Amino acid sequence: MAVPKTKKSKSRMRMRKATTHKRSIAAASTCPSCGESRLPHRVCPACGTYGGRQVLSISVDD
Ligand SMILES: [Zn+2]
Repeated sequence: MAVPKTKKSKSRMRMRKATTHKRSIAAASTCPSCGESRLPHRVCPACGTYGGRQVLSISVDD
């Protein structure tokens, strides 16, 4: 059975393990009604529309 010739250093081991917990890039899409960037398959936080219809009432006080 093959045995490693030398011990992997902590740095080498951590560099190898780091490849598995890379952060994935957040998917982004733009709202068709207001053009604001929002997450796909989510209600737009800026205008409150989803699928071409108003689903949330957004106050425009501020
Ligand atoms: Zn919107």
